[in-house]
Amino acid sequence: MRRMLIVGAGQSGLQLALGLQAQGYEVTLMSNRTADEIRVGRVMSTQCMFHTALQHERDLEINFWEEQAPRIQGLGVSVAGPVTPLGHPRLVDWVGELDGCAQSVDQRLKMAGWMDAFERRGGRLVIHGATVSDLNFLAERYDLLLVAAGKGELGSLFGRDATRSPYTSPQRALAVAYVHGLAPRLEHPDLEAVRCNLVPDVGELYVMPALTASGRADILFWEAIPGGPADVFEGVTDPSEHLALTLELMEWFTPWEYGRATRVELTDAGGTLSGRYTPTVRDPIGRLPGGGLVLGVADVVVTNDPLTGQGSNSAAKCAASYLASIVEHGDRPFDEAWMRRTFARFWATARHVTKWTNAMLAPPPDHIVRLLGAAGQLPAVAHRFANGFDDPADFENFFYEPDKTAAYLEEAEAAGAAEVAEDAEDAEDGGTDAADVGDAIDTASEAAEQVG
Ligand SMILES: Cc1cc2nc3c(=O)[nH]c(=O)nc-3n(C[C@H](O)[C@H](O)[C@H](O)COP(=O)(O)OP(=O)(O)OC[C@H]3O[C@@H](n4cnc5c(N)ncnc54)[C@H](O)[C@@H]3O)c2cc1C
Repeated sequence: MRRMLIVGAGQSGLQLALGLQAQGYEVTLMSNRTADEIRVGRVMSTQCMFHTALQHERDLEINFWEEQAPRIQGLGVSVAGPVTPLGHPRLVDWVGELDGCAQSVDQRLKMAGWMDAFERRGGRLVIHGATVSDLNFLAERYDLLLVAAGKGELGSLFGRDATRSPYTSPQRALAVAYVHGLAPRLEHPDLEAVRCNLVPDVGELYVMPALTASGRADILFWEAIPGGPADVFEGVTDPSEHLALTLELMEWFTPWEYGRATRVELTDAGGTLSGRYTPTVRDPIGRLPGGGLVLGVADVVVTNDPLTGQGSNSAAKCAASYLASIVEHGDRPFDEAWMRRTFARFWATARHVTKWTNAMLAPPPDHIVRLLGAAGQLPAVAHRFANGFDDPADFENFFYEPDKTAAYLEEAEAAGAAEVAEDAEDAEDGGTDAADVGDAIDTASEAAEQVG
């Protein structure tokens, strides 16, 4: 029986551990926290996962919370316009239907539950914060060492890949609050949807339904441009103050979201999180002082900003891809060549996530502004953009290059000619077209500077 050591009990480490365990491998999992510590600790993510990633969990039959978690059927985008005496109006507002539903299960619930399942099924769980010297000592005893320690210190074993890491500093300051009591969006009261609210020069507010220990919740998540008017959470340790700041920003920049948040309260004392980190791609292989090799998993080797909500999705895809590579390799040694092939297989999908996320972190070029505006009038465009969250490879076809975007919009307009004609009538009655949105975003940027 092949012996595997996995360091880190997060989305990727646990999914891989449970997957290998089901295939008969002898798995040791090292976690720096017990299941109970995780359960009562601080929230770690907003962890919205889309169809493909959720399917990997279903394939392993570890989708324990699927029945209880809200089924997210749509993904909406709103863009804030220039400031008025009442705050910022909404210039763009649409929701695209997801082909397969998305779900967000509080990682405190999920990781603690998966750790319990791993142990119940006979897995060896060691509670210990692994160090490089631990790994060096243990290398001989295992056929393969996998480091799935997220953004923890062990990441320093893996060299930064400058060619794949355009940023050298954090691009957003993150602030998360889990709440109960959020009212539905008035225009779609029955639709569970992730809402991406883009506020030029300020950042983004994400609002999404989730499942936490106390039941159905919603997450309010500010992604603030560093140094901008929403970058106000650093040093805030009191959860009530964190929530108050979240709501204050919502009231000013996204009043349409604030309107449904006037009665919210935090789910629990650990229901807030703030911080920032630099998106980084690393070399997938770490070299131990004694010459042993370790393979990095998920966030250890590819860390993206959570702006596009892809990290847990990528972690699930990485665990599924590594599991297949390990099983297919049979009894042969897990040497450097195998490690490089294994990472390359994952990178074939991960590179699309990194490219798209890094593009979304930059101010939107004109063709993207047009695309987002057009999605408000062409449901097919809204649908395609929304489903790109499940399969970011599709953005290659219509997102990055102005020519491809223009060709796609032309095609979409032709296909939806009847609807467009109808929408054009609405636009004449005071609606917004894509060109207006472009102008308005420029003006909004100026306004945001004044606010800052
Ligand atoms: C604010 C925020 C919002 C997010 N929102 C989303 C979203 O909506 N959708 C999405 O898909 N992703 C989202 N993400 C990203 C996602 O949470 C991560 O990318 C994902 O959890 C990474 O999984 P992982 O297995 O690589 O690492 P993690 O889930 O971070 O797990 C790593 C584990 O290793 C443990 N560990 C660390 N060091 C050691 C050590 N030395 N020894 C033992 N154990 C160790 C850690 O305690 C942790 O339990 C978000 C992230 C943040 C910060």
